[in-house]
Amino acid sequence: MKKTSIQNEMFLEIRDKELFKQVQQYSFDYLENVFDRNVYPTEEALNDLSKFDEELPLFSTKAEKVLEQLNQYGSPATTATLGGRFFGFVCGSALPIGLAAKNLATYWDQAPAMNVLSPIGSRLESVVEGWLVELFKLPKGTVAGFVSGTSAANLCGLAAARYRILKKNNWDINKKGLYNAPKIRIVAGKQAHSTVLKAIGILGLGQENIEWVDVDNQGRIIPEAIPELDENAILILQAGNVNSGSFDDFETICNKAQKANAWVHIDGAFGLWAGAVDELKHLTKGIEKANSWAVDGHKTLNTPYDCGIVLCEDKEALTSALHMSASYIIESTQRDGMFYTPEMSRRARVVELWAIMKYLGKAGIDKMVLTMHERAKQFSYEISKINGFYVDNDIVFNQVIVRCDNDKITERVLNNIQNLRECWLGGSVWFGNKVMRISICSWATTKNDISKSVKSFQKALELEITNANNVNR
Ligand SMILES: *Cc1c(COP(=O)(O)O)cnc(C)c1O
Repeated sequence: MKKTSIQNEMFLEIRDKELFKQVQQYSFDYLENVFDRNVYPTEEALNDLSKFDEELPLFSTKAEKVLEQLNQYGSPATTATLGGRFFGFVCGSALPIGLAAKNLATYWDQAPAMNVLSPIGSRLESVVEGWLVELFKLPKGTVAGFVSGTSAANLCGLAAARYRILKKNNWDINKKGLYNAPKIRIVAGKQAHSTVLKAIGILGLGQENIEWVDVDNQGRIIPEAIPELDENAILILQAGNVNSGSFDDFETICNKAQKANAWVHIDGAFGLWAGAVDELKHLTKGIEKANSWAVDGHKTLNTPYDCGIVLCEDKEALTSALHMSASYIIESTQRDGMFYTPEMSRRARVVELWAIMKYLGKAGIDKMVLTMHERAKQFSYEISKINGFYVDNDIVFNQVIVRCDNDKITERVLNNIQNLRECWLGGSVWFGNKVMRISICSWATTKNDISKSVKSFQKALELEITNANNVNR
């Protein structure tokens, strides 16, 4: 095929829009089904993934054929995280307005690295930064970087901490690196999220240097167990334990850290949003005394993937830690997004974040997040009534930890639940026991979804009992 002919074809695709209509139809079909279908792909759908195992074609493929393949074999091999019965990890769904706004932004194809690259992207980042600071009641002057998730946000927050602490020691980390640098202390709870450890590793601070703090039976840091802090210490706290959903006692701990001039970073991936709910905001009391915060849009707020935010009250530390410069950069008097993130180019994910916050408003966010909490309590209540299931945590937010009589049974029942595909969740280990971890994090989870899922748990346990009896006979 000659070069000009494929270019002509592409202009035709833009002009007649058939391609986009085709994809719109596929999207509508997907949305029609995703709330009722099997939550995990069927065996057949998984086997059909082999259709993608092919060599890179030598010649061009018709665009409609490319989309056809993607729809026919791709769509059935998705997990229905968008629906109301995916309880695995901590995943959000996506609000319709978020999907729609992201769709529009897809056609804009903006990269808000610099203001000149995307005035709309930059303006929305400024606006949403202000909204988030107000919603979480963070100190005036707190800035935001819009990144892919809390993994990246933790990395950025801790990079800012590293910059600030070394700067106070007359050490410019960007110029001198870590060789012979003054030592930075890292203090973290024994149940800090694995992405925090990853960030510590990437930043060269060394996971073996962590001073571990004991936690209570909900996974919360025991304030009295925190070692003496000083101004060379980074203390890492958690809003929303990934298993139990518990929150550290920020008020007590941050007061202590402030007195010692230590840097406090809060990993609030899904839990920070409790601060936006009247009935739950006691959980985040005192967070405003920290220095940096990491939070996701794509979990509790239900933005489409991907969306995370780093917030930092020390603008100079964050922007210096992530600074880059080159002769061709055009700096604006307004916001240039790349000074707040590790990347230069990245998509304008703020568009759907803005759209969702505007759509819901404060009252809507409050209601949506509170409903997740209520569904978690419903789940806990209904599952506790079934003989053979035990709830192992206090339901303070959206997480429920469930186990059976022993590890073997818990594992097999979890396996049965996953095979039934009526809902989906994963396992974890909680104080030495194998457990099942339920995360209610979707706007779409109804009361009925909870009851239906509890029934699936019951079916899975009955299957296990039947199998055990058959083996014994
Ligand atoms: C999910 C999660 C992370 C990681 O966030 P990503 O958005 O997946 O990068 C970090 N900490 C906690 C507590 C989480 O729940």
